[in-house]
Amino acid sequence: MTTLEEISSIEDEKLILPPDVNPSALRDAFVELVHTVGAENLQIITSDRIMPDGQGDYFNLPKEHDLFYAMDKNTFLASAIVAPGSVEETSTIVKVANKYLVPLWPVSRGRNLGYGGAAPRIRGSIVVDLGIRMNRVLNVDPKNATALLEPGVSYFDLHNHLQKNGIHHLWIDNPDLGGGSVLGNTLERGAGYTPYGEHFSMHCGLEVVLPNGEIIRTGMGALPGNNTWQLFQYGYGPYHDGIFTQSNLGIVTKMGVWLMPDPGGYQAYHFSFPRDDDLPAIVEVIRDLRLKMIIQNAPTIRNALLDAAVYGPKSQYTSSTEVLTEEEVGEIASKISVGHWNVYGALYGPKPLRDLQWEIVRTAFLTIPGATYRFPEEVDKSSGLSIIHMRDETLKGLPNTYELGWLNWRGPGGSLLGFSPISPTTGEDANKQYQMVKKRFTQFGFDYMGTFVVGWRELHHIVCLTFDKTNPTERRNAHRCISLLIDDAAREGYGEYRTHLCFMDQIASVYNWNGNALLKFNETLKDALDPNGIMAPGKSGIWPARFRGRGFEIVPEEPKL
Ligand code: ADP
Repeated sequence: MTTLEEISSIEDEKLILPPDVNPSALRDAFVELVHTVGAENLQIITSDRIMPDGQGDYFNLPKEHDLFYAMDKNTFLASAIVAPGSVEETSTIVKVANKYLVPLWPVSRGRNLGYGGAAPRIRGSIVVDLGIRMNRVLNVDPKNATALLEPGVSYFDLHNHLQKNGIHHLWIDNPDLGGGSVLGNTLERGAGYTPYGEHFSMHCGLEVVLPNGEIIRTGMGALPGNNTWQLFQYGYGPYHDGIFTQSNLGIVTKMGVWLMPDPGGYQAYHFSFPRDDDLPAIVEVIRDLRLKMIIQNAPTIRNALLDAAVYGPKSQYTSSTEVLTEEEVGEIASKISVGHWNVYGALYGPKPLRDLQWEIVRTAFLTIPGATYRFPEEVDKSSGLSIIHMRDETLKGLPNTYELGWLNWRGPGGSLLGFSPISPTTGEDANKQYQMVKKRFTQFGFDYMGTFVVGWRELHHIVCLTFDKTNPTERRNAHRCISLLIDDAAREGYGEYRTHLCFMDQIASVYNWNGNALLKFNETLKDALDPNGIMAPGKSGIWPARFRGRGFEIVPEEPKL
């Protein structure tokens, strides 16, 4: 809530000014925003209104700064948070931003955990929080298994909507945590674990407010009176949806999504593998099964410590504060009845179909010496859920937040920095990635925690670096460790699929084939569509002309170790 009186009474030095904007211009912009969305939907951030450490968490996120800041807390700081209630209001906000050159940073739920949360890349941006008022499920088509959503719809919301409305025959696909936005996760090209887990390929149709405030609909949505916007992804002419993902070319205000019909049967499973060096063999087995679609979904190959962290902090398992050895990880794995590596997957379809699949999957994994398997139904629940029960829910699209446990591996209030390189699905590559990360993590004093999510033809290697943000040395180590890993990975030809605000420039700089041709192309698009450079400057390392060459990029520290 910000009244007009308050806007004029805030002292200049308390305002969080964006580049090129003076206090009076920022105030004028705030006044216009109050006229656009109402006083109750604008929150001005001043230097004394930043959420203190200890108050924020996943359920009560700060929207003005990154909950898990690895650099200084004030690096990625918003000047205000505005909550539009409609596409028209969103468009007006964009026009106001153009008038005063105030950068915007759109978020949907802002729960981009480990990648910066809701915080903007450039200090002083106004966070456009679409999650507060634009959070309706606009339509579900039960026959065609589609939905049309506003940005604020979380996985929990969508699931609850289907249940409340008796649409029990449709499943959703959620990532590890169910509190994020369906639309936001898709725009970040996130993934889930059912056969519909590749979120971008399961979306159908966008409505976008362009950087000049104009509103477009993509695909069939461009045809007035159509009844196929959520049914056919491409429409006519060039296909644009991709340029609105991980980008800064618009604010997406609606998105269509395909829902999975109940497959008529389901069975989750867990294979355990006893040795640290089983990883290559597991990957070799999984590639063939996945490519042939005998495994229909995106299973995960999880390291034991990730499972351990879901149950409790490191101190629950050991008094050691050193990086754990392979033997110690093995001991923890035995304590919690998992393998050193674990495959969590599921079978989808009527029983005769599942029986055939299971025979092939079981036989293939059991060729690895020491492999064992179990089903969730066989594991006692009376003293609490096991990982297999948690994965059982996730793999059938039941949203949850079990995996928040990762955060507290090093103690309560832990922070997370994500590192997510893409690897071919070969044993050799997976092992190379694992060793590369383990080496750097050991150098900086972090335990390796990671999972390989098996996509169609690649592995998303999701590495979770947990650190204590209240300890400046640990923060610095966390930042430096990932920064060095980005270069390590690039030297081996690996690139990340998504990243935290503080690594966007570095990663853009390693995708540099043919003299940075791709970045130049992105800049050409950016300058054509956003000549005033107001839409999420710096997102994915793409800066508008107004910001380029002025030192806003975050470049890795020298020397390389
Ligand atoms: P989630 O809550 O699902 O994790 P966020 O809302 O944090 O997702 O969105 C992740 C990122 O995606 C944001 O930081 C922003 O860069 C981009 N984004 C999210 N929503 C929108 C949107 N509606 N329009 C454009 N970009 C968006």
